[in-house]
Amino acid sequence: MDTDTRSASLVPGVAAVLASARRPESAADIRARFERASAKVEQASRHAWTNRTFNKVLWDAIVAEGILDLIDAGDQAGTVANFGAALEGIAAGSGDPGFTIVPITHGLLGMGVIAEAAAPEVREQWLRRLSTGGEILAFALSEEHGGTDALRPRTTITRDGEDYRLDGVKWHITSAPVADVALVWAKDAENGELVGVLVETASPGVSVTPLEPAGTRSAPVGRYAFEGVHIPHRNVLGRGRGKELLNAALRRERIMAGFVGTGAMDRMLQHAMRFAATREAGGKVIAYHQHIQRRLCDIKLRLDSVRMLTADAVAKMAAGQRYTLEASQVKMTSMRACMDAVTDTIQICGSYGVQEDAGLYQMWLDAVCVSIAGGTEEAHRLVIMQELVRDFAIRAAAESDHANAA
Ligand SMILES: Cc1cc2nc3c(=O)[nH]c(=O)nc-3n(C[C@H](O)[C@H](O)[C@H](O)COP(=O)(O)OP(=O)(O)OC[C@H]3O[C@@H](n4cnc5c(N)ncnc54)[C@H](O)[C@@H]3O)c2cc1C
Repeated sequence: MDTDTRSASLVPGVAAVLASARRPESAADIRARFERASAKVEQASRHAWTNRTFNKVLWDAIVAEGILDLIDAGDQAGTVANFGAALEGIAAGSGDPGFTIVPITHGLLGMGVIAEAAAPEVREQWLRRLSTGGEILAFALSEEHGGTDALRPRTTITRDGEDYRLDGVKWHITSAPVADVALVWAKDAENGELVGVLVETASPGVSVTPLEPAGTRSAPVGRYAFEGVHIPHRNVLGRGRGKELLNAALRRERIMAGFVGTGAMDRMLQHAMRFAATREAGGKVIAYHQHIQRRLCDIKLRLDSVRMLTADAVAKMAAGQRYTLEASQVKMTSMRACMDAVTDTIQICGSYGVQEDAGLYQMWLDAVCVSIAGGTEEAHRLVIMQELVRDFAIRAAAESDHANAA
């Protein structure tokens, strides 16, 4: 008999107390906690978006709530489920879904790759710095010649004695104007290998030009130029498996779009329901009009479709199954669903829907931007098609084997 069971049998009720103390927080609890924390800074979030400034208030709130503690390199599926639940709460509570790119790039991508691939002393040093949220990390993969062609960067590292020098340009990188460090993806000039490179952005040879996209305004983006930047050899990550490391990180990232879309659409549905239930037109509450009901039902259907696709991808990942197709399905459908949901919400609210303070056009612009960040719809259709062909070939081979055996 273990100690817990023994004490539980001695004192009635202790078993329940011990069990609840041990029970990990559910994804629903995490979502609710982050939604509450984000809702408290909703006005500050609106202000940051309108003024095109980094949403420091929301960042501090979610860091204080423990978002960076949700990253567990030893449990990738658990990290995806918990981190995603937090993002869903942030999108629902703050009304600033575009800002979620900041915790995704800093935490899930940046800290995730460092935890997985850096040497122990580098890992400890960088994760200690990044886990407080006091410094921001940018995840720099895309280049000016085409983000879709991300796995063939023109940015290079070249050997320089024991260490390296970094040269190249990265385009449209979230947090670049405010980031203290960057995880830059580059090609080793010597052997063409893809590697991740940790860069202190205050280093000589690094320059940043801010960019001004129409949406995601509280998550500033910029263009990096690297000219002969000194890189200590220990800051080069992913030797021998850079492509695999990056692909795995990007697959996890794609699922995040589903959580963000779910949170944003849930918020829109509540907004639309509130308006439809209280607004009268021609002496009748508009929620009784079937055309309005159809829009409300469509928002709900999109919300639940994205929620289910997301849950399916997480379940496959947790079961150790291939989830490449599912991750791309989530990424390409979630923001399209969000754009359509926000258009319906605006239409339901009429002129009230297009007012600045309704915050709806802001969500539409964020959804457009997030639909491109992390890969366009075309890019994900390509992945889905490749997976379909792969699956078809496997089935055809199995059928042929079966026929030959018969
Ligand atoms: C708000 C925002 C934040 C971002 N943050 C980051 C970040 O933090 N880090 C980072 O590295 N990147 C970031 N990006 C960049 C993003 O990853 C790229 O914009 C994206 O991958 C698309 O690349 P591109 O814009 O260069 O378009 P391109 O790759 O030039 O594509 C242009 C068009 O051609 C289509 N296309 C390209 N190739 C094909 C093909 N083979 N078949 C069919 N169609 C094709 C595309 O779908 C698109 O319609 C961000 C982008 C946005 C909008």
